[in-house]
Amino acid sequence: MNMMGGILSASGLFSKQSIFILMVGTMLGYVVLPIFLLETSSFYPESIQTRSNKPDPRKLESGDDIMSRLIENKKLLSVQSMPTDRSPNIMETAVLGDHRRKKILVTGGAGFVGSHLVDKLMMEGHEVTVVDNFFTGQKKNVAHWIHHPNFSLVVHDVTEPIMAEVDQIYHLACPASPPHYQFNPVKTIKTSTMGTLNMLGLAKRVKARILLTSTSEIYGDPQVHPQAEGYWGNVNPIGPRSCYDEGKRVAETMMYSYKDQSNVEVRVARIFNTFGPRMHPNDGRVVSNFIIQALQKKPLTVYGEGDQTRSFQYVSDLVDGLHALMNSDYDGPVNLGNPDEFTMKDFAKYIKKLTESESEIRFLEKTQDDPSKRKPDIALAKKKLGWEPRVTVEEGLSKTIVYFQQVLDEAGEIIPTGPGASKPQN
Ligand code: NAD
Ligand code: UDP
Ligand code: UDP
Repeated sequence: MNMMGGILSASGLFSKQSIFILMVGTMLGYVVLPIFLLETSSFYPESIQTRSNKPDPRKLESGDDIMSRLIENKKLLSVQSMPTDRSPNIMETAVLGDHRRKKILVTGGAGFVGSHLVDKLMMEGHEVTVVDNFFTGQKKNVAHWIHHPNFSLVVHDVTEPIMAEVDQIYHLACPASPPHYQFNPVKTIKTSTMGTLNMLGLAKRVKARILLTSTSEIYGDPQVHPQAEGYWGNVNPIGPRSCYDEGKRVAETMMYSYKDQSNVEVRVARIFNTFGPRMHPNDGRVVSNFIIQALQKKPLTVYGEGDQTRSFQYVSDLVDGLHALMNSDYDGPVNLGNPDEFTMKDFAKYIKKLTESESEIRFLEKTQDDPSKRKPDIALAKKKLGWEPRVTVEEGLSKTIVYFQQVLDEAGEIIPTGPGASKPQN
């Protein structure tokens, strides 16, 4: 009796249709599937195919067997993490000898300033670890480093302790735009206080040098103009900006307490308003708002009469300043900013001119405790670091306008964040 006849007589239930399906299925299983598998296997990298060549655990491996396994593993790793025609290209960076290559932690490294700093440190050939909770930062800001062997990304909140072995810590983690730091003021305070405490504890344990990105906001609504480092400031301790201002003031205090009590090597940068590509289009700061409004021909929103002043520096200058400060011998607070000062009214007109926009300028209600003037005295940075801004505001704005135009081309319409507290958007 042949096989088909056996099945038929055994069941007595099969229709002609089901016999046909059975025959086709058998053919698929025995003939087509093996051919298909043979064919498609050539699409997979060799390393993936070799995964099935697992050694027999009962067999004792010889030295040669172990060597060939190592070679296979290396092939597997190289396919997964090194550039091939299938995987992303890796940016070429300087190669530093072991004694010069540093292990550097950048908290807040996925944010606007942090990501530019990471670019510089990576290009120099250091091993960089970014710690970020993505509150206001974006993964895309560091996505170009993800496959680089010198780069690590740790999604972590600095208010929780963290263990790592590092030589330097750039501690930037903290929301910086008023609508975002006011969205959850208690969290902003925790980030500046508990976050800085944890980073100082880490710096103390591993004997790393730590740099805090403090802010011109520690001068509050200043009664001295321009502001030099010796000025103690004029801060409302219970206003809407206090979670940020007082948080940073305490953070500075902690830096110098750890220096005095535990000999931690500290650096403190007091950063003045900074702008450039990778600013979050919805962060509600004046540069992003005005440019996005002007490019969309929407009204430029000036808060109050627009007589308050700010001085704007381009992000690459700031990054150079942070780097110079970290690697200098000076451990007092240092202002980093561009003294080029504008009233917000004039700044709105300036952005209109640079974007060739016909937008109207609309005056909205003044926001509480908005500092009336701000301009850095940078004599100390010049003297101690040999640093001063090199990019003019106009040059920097031109680059930033190109960036925001690209963002708009990708995103379509953007409604800028207004003056009130606001959750960061993606
Ligand atoms: P940003 O908001 O773009 O970057 C801050 C980064 O910190 C983000 O990636 C955010 O996700 C991360 N972060 C926030 N809270 C965190 C937490 N609890 N744990 C881990 N990560 C956290 O802001 P930025 O403009 O790049 O500012 C960077 C630093 O510079 C901040 O410390 C800010 O206070 C300081 N600063 C900036 C300016 C400026 O004009 N850009 C001015 C003065 C000071
Ligand atoms: N810390 C940390 N990583 C470290 C060392 C310390 O996150 O590698 C944290 C630690 O959990 C503590 C903080 O830093 O909350 C301050 O540490 P420190 O040793 O100064 O203080 P202590 O632990 O004695 O209170
Ligand atoms: N500002 C404004 N319109 C906006 C955003 C901000 O007039 O759409 C003003 C704000 O009131 C402040 C200045 O611009 O006086 C700078 O604001 P920003 O939020 O950029 O930074 P700040 O220096 O206040 O932290």
